[in-house]
Amino acid sequence: MPEIRKLDPSLVNKIAAGEVIERPASVVKELLENALDAGATRIDVALEEGGTQLIRVADNGSGVAAGDLPLAVAPHATSKLHTSDDLFNIRTLGFRGEALASIASVSRLRMASRTVGAIEGHEIICTDGQIEGPRPCAAPVGTCVEVRQLFFNVPARRKFLRQAPTELTNATEQLARLALAHPQVAFTLAHNDRASRNLPATADRRARIADFYGAELAECLIPIDREERGLRIEALIAPPAQSRASTKWQYLFLNGRFISDRRIGFAIREAFRGLVEHDRYPVIFIFLTTDPQAYDVNVHPTKIEVRWRDAALVQSQVLAILRETLLSRDLTPGLSLARSSSGAAALTEDDLGHQERTRAALADYLKSIDPTQARLAFQPPRFPSESVRPSISETLTTRYPSFEEAVARPTHSTVVTHSGEGAAAEQRPPNGKPVSGENESFEPPPANVPPVRTAAEAQASVIQVHNTYLVAQTEDGIIIVDQHALHERILYERFRDRILAGALESQRLLIAPTIEASAGMVQAAEHHRELLLRLGIELSVFGPTTLAVLGFPSLLKTVEPGEFVADLLEKLAEQSEPPSDETLLHQALDMMACKAAVKAGDPLTAEEMQALLMQRHLTDRSSNCPHGRPTTLQLSTRDLERQFKRV
Ligand code: ADP
Ligand code: MG
Repeated sequence: MPEIRKLDPSLVNKIAAGEVIERPASVVKELLENALDAGATRIDVALEEGGTQLIRVADNGSGVAAGDLPLAVAPHATSKLHTSDDLFNIRTLGFRGEALASIASVSRLRMASRTVGAIEGHEIICTDGQIEGPRPCAAPVGTCVEVRQLFFNVPARRKFLRQAPTELTNATEQLARLALAHPQVAFTLAHNDRASRNLPATADRRARIADFYGAELAECLIPIDREERGLRIEALIAPPAQSRASTKWQYLFLNGRFISDRRIGFAIREAFRGLVEHDRYPVIFIFLTTDPQAYDVNVHPTKIEVRWRDAALVQSQVLAILRETLLSRDLTPGLSLARSSSGAAALTEDDLGHQERTRAALADYLKSIDPTQARLAFQPPRFPSESVRPSISETLTTRYPSFEEAVARPTHSTVVTHSGEGAAAEQRPPNGKPVSGENESFEPPPANVPPVRTAAEAQASVIQVHNTYLVAQTEDGIIIVDQHALHERILYERFRDRILAGALESQRLLIAPTIEASAGMVQAAEHHRELLLRLGIELSVFGPTTLAVLGFPSLLKTVEPGEFVADLLEKLAEQSEPPSDETLLHQALDMMACKAAVKAGDPLTAEEMQALLMQRHLTDRSSNCPHGRPTTLQLSTRDLERQFKRV
């Protein structure tokens, strides 16, 4: 056994550096945090070769007294934390007293600083644990830290550094994370002596977002600002049509610190469920402000994660406000007419890729459904006025009986409580008033709910084109509706409300159709017997490979029972593990909605078209079908005027 020895301090520092200093971007983050903690109102960052050669961060903050400079780069030395109680009340970005010591151990570091009252500045230079200075130097009030040749003495680390452009991208992302959270501070970034970003101070978060991601995105963001139980939730959310191919555009900040949080990520996914396709992610900026005692940030050396005192509460608060906001908005995307040289809208490569993805979406959506959905399904109700309730023609109800269901009462007649045993639901009478005040989560509809369209609007003429799309006049333009997608959403919400309120009504079939089933399908039928009954599907095993459908949901009059059940069981049998009850419900509802909905190519009568459009305003999430594809596109008169160059 070799003897046990104490590590020498410079090695200890290098080991510590391994935790927080991974690449130039980590240095940028730590130096920016220090500048912000020092109360700077302006911070200038300069990089050379992606930061691998030089990282310079200069601020106009409080500065460090000459005598304290060596302490600043000493390990475990900080001005931000004194007692262990402070550890649970952290109001600064830094507190570990480790960053500068770590950086100094793996680079050539110079720190120059001058405090407000001082007549001159002082600097220190650190190389490989040796400190020169402090000695006087010319310096403005504030601090300037220069980090040269990162990892010059740690070749193993240096090997992992990427090309300068990649390192620059990483560093810029770190700057974005801090700059988005601190719009009141001006930042600049220069790379190889060329200006790369110029972010003037602003009181408006949206302006800062525009600086990074462009005015177009910033303008369409929907603002949220709500304070509840000591948690302030500010957010700017982009409409679903703006969603991206990765979660990179989801920014979460807690008291000015960028964090990543699995549970809030889940809340975002839940809130946007069915509004974005399965492989698209909403763009969202969330800024949480709360007492630092509500969480512990001393979990991870890079402080990227926190441990909440009550994580479930925070998650449900974020989910509720996001969902409420999304439900209260008309999220119908505007029709963007690309102006190609010929003046015609052409399909771009991106559009084509999008279509491909759309096709894959249906299959994958089924797999992506989260079982906890039902329990979290709190929906703030809206009460559409009675006057818009359409009268439904005989033809419609006989051809598409589920229309009748959908139209008979508003979709919002059921409120799902989010507490209590599973998915308890409360029926509302048609006057829209709650039966009792039992539901704790119940809140009056938000004031900014857009008015439900007038009956006159829905009575306006509708035409069907290619037996697939409905084109209708609205108060301020026209809409184009994908008849299948919209009907699918309407039925999905309708069925969902029903099933959350109890079982679906089942109808006994006079002649029970039989289906040929694989062993897996028979197994699935037996495994999920109870749940299938809740869905109104009653099966009996006729033989090792034969099932009979004895009962079928009465809502699905237009659907062929044998075929539907066979398809559903096949889907269940395909899955490597039996799905949870909630997942199965989602899959079944999805399939029901899809099969019962009018198809592309189905001619519709005028009454049917009217009924469908009426439902658009009465249905939650009607802007998108259950797979997240848009149901409706709109073109305002203003857009038309612009296109025809009348203005
Ligand atoms: P921490 O930020 O966790 O305290 P650091 O190693 O990053 O640890 O910094 C050590 C100390 O150096 C800080 O506590 C602070 O007192 C001082 N310091 C570092 N950078 C600056 C700066 N830009 N302006 C003023 N003081 C600074
Ligand atoms: Mg620090």
